[in-house]
Amino acid sequence: MTNNKTEPIPPMLPDIFTLPPYGKKPPMLLGGYCGHCDAHFFPKPRYCPRCLGTPDLKEIGNTGVIHSFTVVRTKPPLGLPQPYGVGYVDLDEGMFGAGLRIFCLFDPGSMDQLRIGAKVRLQAAPLGHNGRGEVRLRPFFKPIDGEQEG
Ligand SMILES: [Zn+2]
Repeated sequence: MTNNKTEPIPPMLPDIFTLPPYGKKPPMLLGGYCGHCDAHFFPKPRYCPRCLGTPDLKEIGNTGVIHSFTVVRTKPPLGLPQPYGVGYVDLDEGMFGAGLRIFCLFDPGSMDQLRIGAKVRLQAAPLGHNGRGEVRLRPFFKPIDGEQEG
């Protein structure tokens, strides 16, 4: 029996980012929000570290600025490409009110465009595997070409 349907590729972890199909709405990071403390977290903790309440799962944005990064050239884990980039992104504030600094992957095809202060946008695509060789969707940030601040 053949099955030509493409099964959706599962995410690396649940509740980290919104899943396809994206249509007109691009992928968004998901985090936790505690209304009692008016505080955002990424990833969503089981309990708010301030008041031990239960945070809500909430979209926390998809654009930001590179705070720092590094390009790793040693043998990568989980089927990631070599080299791969990781670092911290300061999420934009604005309508989501998050403004968190988060640790993340960068687009493997954009290693030579990584710069501190560069604007980036979230993408989600099959990247690496889950430790058992099964491809997984991962969120990563890609520098935004030609878009200026403001
Ligand atoms: Zn709280």
